[in-house]
Amino acid sequence: MDSTPSSPKEHLRSPVTRAALRVQNAVLAATREFLSAQGFTELLPPVIGPVTDPGARGAKQVDVDYYGHRYKLMTSAILYKQATLTAFDRIFAIAPNVRLEPPETSTTSRHLAEFHQIDVEIADATAEQAMDLAENLVSHVVKSVVTLPDLAVLGRDVTALAAVLGRPFDRRTHASAVAELHSLGHEQNPDGEIDWRAEVLLSSRTAQPFFVTAYPKGSRGFYDRESAEHPGVLRNFDLIAPEGFGELCSGSEREHRYAEIVTRMRETGENPAKYGWYLDVVRDGIPASAGFGIGLERLTRYLCGLADVWQASAYPKLPGVASP
Ligand code: AMP
Ligand code: MG
Repeated sequence: MDSTPSSPKEHLRSPVTRAALRVQNAVLAATREFLSAQGFTELLPPVIGPVTDPGARGAKQVDVDYYGHRYKLMTSAILYKQATLTAFDRIFAIAPNVRLEPPETSTTSRHLAEFHQIDVEIADATAEQAMDLAENLVSHVVKSVVTLPDLAVLGRDVTALAAVLGRPFDRRTHASAVAELHSLGHEQNPDGEIDWRAEVLLSSRTAQPFFVTAYPKGSRGFYDRESAEHPGVLRNFDLIAPEGFGELCSGSEREHRYAEIVTRMRETGENPAKYGWYLDVVRDGIPASAGFGIGLERLTRYLCGLADVWQASAYPKLPGVASP
């Protein structure tokens, strides 16, 4: 398939885009059906605010002049998700994110500068409970779309898709993923994020989605809670799609204690003074929680078997490309 859309109009009207967007529509309906049946409240997340998630792997934030104040477009809804748990126990949002991704992401087939997350947060939950929920949600979504005629239009191998149903997703630690990568001759840094190529390598060696858990502390933002039993290791996880499609979701148990958050901010190079409103809420007390965000366009790409994630967006913003 083409590597870039020919023109916005042609892209939107193409049979591939229309089929992919119909599948995405079914993904959203299935997500809402599943989560509301589990007692989740859908909330509309803010688009701009004084501060946003700093943990986005080399991506730049977008500044907005908000009545003379320097505000940010949301790179993720994490700060608001934690704050909202003071009023609701189980929440989700279909949240728009803007990240000026670095140039090297333009060849991953997985990065857009504007995308959406199915963003979920659960008060008093563990990382394991959040993984169970993510697994059940993705399985429900697969089941809901696997019979759609649009997948045939897209030439998707639905047998591969149906194979994910009814089997538990494997869970392996970051350390064991690193060991597997080393055994394959890939030079993965044991103290860092699984790099883009490694993600595809692991993903293409399996027919089943799987979780990678327990990332090292230096690799993620201040809100991923550090394990009490294993200092230096985070209580977090990624869900990786099979067939080479790569990361679908990141999540974690959250740090909710004021002093620990401030320490972690400093450790990750963030100035706590920037986070005034958030730290005020945290100081008053927020619940312990766990949650995750599933990339909507990434999930659509995987379900549809698309060559590139931009094909799952009506108006794709490719990193580094000016587009409507
Ligand atoms: P993150 O917090 O960076 O892990 O983002 C959460 C999820 O959003 C990821 O697991 C991806 O599915 C999705 N995502 C992150 N960055 C992008 C991007 N630049 N383009 C499309 N989807 C993304
Ligand atoms: Mg991630």
